[in-house]
Amino acid sequence: MGTATGIIKALNSGIKHLAVKRFTLRYPEQKLKFVGDGYQFDPTTGVGIAGYKGRHMLFHDHCTGCQLCSIACEGVAEAIAMVKVQEEWKHNKKGIMPQIDYGKCVFCGLCVDACPFYALYMTNDYELSSFSKEALIYTPAQLQVKPNVQQDAELIFDDPRGAKHG
Ligand code: SF4
Ligand code: SF4
Repeated sequence: MGTATGIIKALNSGIKHLAVKRFTLRYPEQKLKFVGDGYQFDPTTGVGIAGYKGRHMLFHDHCTGCQLCSIACEGVAEAIAMVKVQEEWKHNKKGIMPQIDYGKCVFCGLCVDACPFYALYMTNDYELSSFSKEALIYTPAQLQVKPNVQQDAELIFDDPRGAKHG
């Protein structure tokens, strides 16, 4: 009796889910659509702007080389090293900017919160896998390139049935 009830329950559940849209995406052909450009922080108001915490974006025309991002990361992951850049900026007399090691970064965003000059944001780029540890180290030049994030599927929240993609 118990086995029969179990089979009926399993069949019932299976039949009910035939009509439910699949949650998983066929990655890499399908990718999730993000809301916004990524996590940012406004140092003037002290308010974070919600967004995905993926690969950083560094704005060279804002970075003063103050090292506050690097200091913020010291107690977390020691993922930021300040390195020399071959650029001359009046606002960055030492000519140093952050370089980020994604082999160490835990994507906490504390470095973004620490930047007083709107120079460091996070983006929707999460495709950072590589065949070598060295390739995970992003130089200031690499960090200033805006990622080309492909966005296909929208995440839809359906209260009775849970999340699904559109
Ligand atoms: S997001 Fe990465 S680089 Fe920034 S503080 Fe956190 S661990 Fe360090
Ligand atoms: S990114 Fe911001 S916190 Fe880091 S060195 Fe540049 S200005 Fe300073």
